[in-house]
Amino acid sequence: MTRNGQPVWDAVVIGAGPAGATAARRLSDAGASTLLLEKRLLPRYKACGGGVPARTLQLLDDLDISLVSEGCVDTIDVSRFGSHQFRKTSARPLAWMVMRDRFDQFLTDLASASGATVRDATSVQSISELDGSYDIETPSGAVKARYILAADGATGPTSRWLGIDAAPTRSAAYEVEVAAPTAALEHWHQAANVDVGYRPWGYGWVFPKDGKLSVGVVAAPRRGRSIRKQTDRYLGRLGLEEADVINVQGHPIRYRRSILEPVAAERALLLGDAAGLADEFTAEGIAYAVHSANLAAQAVLTADDLAGAYTRSVNREIQPELDAARTISRLYYWCVTTWPWLALTASKHVNYLWRAFFRVMRGESTYEDELSVLPFNARLACALSGGA
Ligand SMILES: Cc1cc2nc3c(=O)[nH]c(=O)nc-3n(C[C@H](O)[C@H](O)[C@H](O)COP(=O)(O)OP(=O)(O)OC[C@H]3O[C@@H](n4cnc5c(N)ncnc54)[C@H](O)[C@@H]3O)c2cc1C
Repeated sequence: MTRNGQPVWDAVVIGAGPAGATAARRLSDAGASTLLLEKRLLPRYKACGGGVPARTLQLLDDLDISLVSEGCVDTIDVSRFGSHQFRKTSARPLAWMVMRDRFDQFLTDLASASGATVRDATSVQSISELDGSYDIETPSGAVKARYILAADGATGPTSRWLGIDAAPTRSAAYEVEVAAPTAALEHWHQAANVDVGYRPWGYGWVFPKDGKLSVGVVAAPRRGRSIRKQTDRYLGRLGLEEADVINVQGHPIRYRRSILEPVAAERALLLGDAAGLADEFTAEGIAYAVHSANLAAQAVLTADDLAGAYTRSVNREIQPELDAARTISRLYYWCVTTWPWLALTASKHVNYLWRAFFRVMRGESTYEDELSVLPFNARLACALSGGA
């Protein structure tokens, strides 16, 4: 389709992270003319632990990511301020370890192979709407689109330009990648450390990659000020203060806390981090980014009332998980900071909790389903336990 002699894309997708690359692939697979715009030169670094929960692959139709995977994690090693508590091992992998530059490039290449046009180093600078289509300004000229899929991450400007007041709750996460000594790489082989005790919630992590470790801390909303110091202290407790630093970066994470927080307007949809689709128990967002991309593509391809249909599907399929994760987060981190000995002893010995968490990570269950089988008293305690 053209307008005033200019081609009109069926969809312009903004941002080539997991959300944007997946949406672009889904749309072009279905025959929609799709342009994927990414402001950075690809492949680009993204501050991220790079733990892709196993359930993500189901959302990607069991995609084989072995080309870009740097191993898996099947063991969770729990510590409190660096003091080792216990380890729990799942019968099957919980998460795949990736470097985001390679993983996101892999997904973007698949979109390209499906027929999407990809333009990197092309920052979207403004958006206006005229006569039923969007004008999208970039440094190399304007493009037109019937639909916009904004997957420009937690700091992207698109939602603001479109007047969509999305997910105001933010927290900070800080990541350091270190070239760890061989002994440390062997210690963390297929094992992720989760370091607890941070108030009111948050944790430190170690994720193992090829020849390096991703080490970081995620803080609760409004508690990010000392996150650098916390990460340095954590590195010290891990004995990694002298390790060669490959990369250091902080980045916000946004959380959608209610179905009242919009994710769409007219013919424009927000995906992944741009919509605040990360959970407040683990702070992960890759699975939700991919899930929202699937829902957005489906809405573009099938719905008359695009914004309404997409919002309803996010509210039905993703928001209950975010709500359940927040509830679990409140109870778990409240217990672990209020009665650390009791909480850690209980979580060491109550294997049911670990099996439930592992089922969710592997995509065999959901937080919502696991929460619903807790006795009423425990759910009430979850609801009343506060937290930021
Ligand atoms: C330190 C840290 C650790 C994390 N660890 C994990 C983890 O281990 N596992 C997990 O599941 N989640 C993790 N997360 C969350 C995860 O990184 C995000 O949820 C995920 O990246 C969201 O994907 P996305 O596609 O929505 O956005 P992004 O991956 O952020 O991609 C957005 C893209 O949009 C581009 N963009 C922005 N503005 C424009 C513009 N104007 N024009 C064009 N392009 C633009 C950006 O350059 C970027 O490439 C972590 C987050 C942080 C901060």
